Amino acid sequence: MIKDRLLVAILAATTLVGACTTSSTKSINPISDQQTTYFADPEERELFDESERLHDEFVRKGLIYRDSALTRYINKVSTDIQPQIIKEKFELRFFVMRDPSVNAFALPNGNIYLNIGLLNRLDNESQLAFVMAHEAAHIINRHAFKSKVSRRNDIVGAHIADFFLAGTGLSYLAAVSNIASYSRDLETEADERALVFLSTTDYDLSKVVDTFDQLKEVKHNKDSTSIWASHPDALTRKKSATTYIETHGLPSHSNTVDSETFQKFKAELTEATLKMRLRLRQYQLAQETAEAAILHQGENALIHAYIGDSYRLRLENQLTAAQERAWLYDEKTEIAKQYIDDNLVIFEQQANTHYQLALQLSADNANAVRGTGLLLSYQGKTSEAIDYLDRYLSFEKIPDRRFIEMKVKQLHTTNNEK
Ligand SMILES: [Zn+2]
Repeated sequence: MIKDRLLVAILAATTLVGACTTSSTKSINPISDQQTTYFADPEERELFDESERLHDEFVRKGLIYRDSALTRYINKVSTDIQPQIIKEKFELRFFVMRDPSVNAFALPNGNIYLNIGLLNRLDNESQLAFVMAHEAAHIINRHAFKSKVSRRNDIVGAHIADFFLAGTGLSYLAAVSNIASYSRDLETEADERALVFLSTTDYDLSKVVDTFDQLKEVKHNKDSTSIWASHPDALTRKKSATTYIETHGLPSHSNTVDSETFQKFKAELTEATLKMRLRLRQYQLAQETAEAAILHQGENALIHAYIGDSYRLRLENQLTAAQERAWLYDEKTEIAKQYIDDNLVIFEQQANTHYQLALQLSADNANAVRGTGLLLSYQGKTSEAIDYLDRYLSFEKIPDRRFIEMKVKQLHTTNNEK
């Protein structure tokens, strides 16, 4: 008997050395099970190494947003939502990603990334806690490994090397999708586990499910780069989650829905989100982000100046504006071009209106002064444009002094030629 057992043990050990030891996803237990060992299988180990490589790339490309106060806050929420056994056995690390799209994802090595655009979109802290718990559940239930085993023939990571050669910084999603996109069943499992994690906290589960409404909005906007948007339909998920809470009798606490700290960070991240969207030439998406911010946070000169920018930039970059429109509404570029063409007068009026609103709220708003100058320049009102841009240059801290100085020089030349 003993000999037989030894033989079995030796056989088991031998298979472990082979390339594919795990033949069925059934044998992949959650990390939270006391007996579970992980990263022992070479295939899972590979996922770990790939995650580490990806993270290094994020750091190298400057994609990680560093803000120690925000990091401390997220780590606090993270501590609150994690089951005790996980804290003892495994380390989950949260990072904020310099990306304006509404997205979050988890890598199998325990790293979880929350985009600035997601933090800015969520309504309250309990929604943040839910997204964090959902991503944590993917890691704890080893979904990347399960997915890899069930589609063994895919060569995971084949894209990663050439992918980053594209070099646009934000184009990391294909590489991430390779190791962090899951089946509908696994998504449902992550939602359910997340609810179980949160049921031992003070978060109000009946409010937590509203997170799906925020994701639905994303889908409506066709923010299709979002991994969250490609999750099973948001409304279906909300219904299933609500049913799950009821049928499993999960305690619904009514204590914590939001915190002032969450709202403070959310407001701070609005400007970062807007800047990134405009830099990525997502003019309409920037406008939508800004309008939502005014709706939630009230009138704000800076936000109006950004809305002005979103319209002015569409005037200055009509082809890009058409491309964005085509992508957002699944239109042919020709039709989108026509739309932009038909709306140029409205864009001009809107840009002007929002800059004026900003200046009424705060006469010294540098962004609005700058925007007005650039709009006047677009309209060919050279002298007035010079006045505004000179005024902008008189402000102390401006990030684009050289660019505006050049612009003023050009305007003087144009003026003299008249
Ligand atoms: Zn998911």
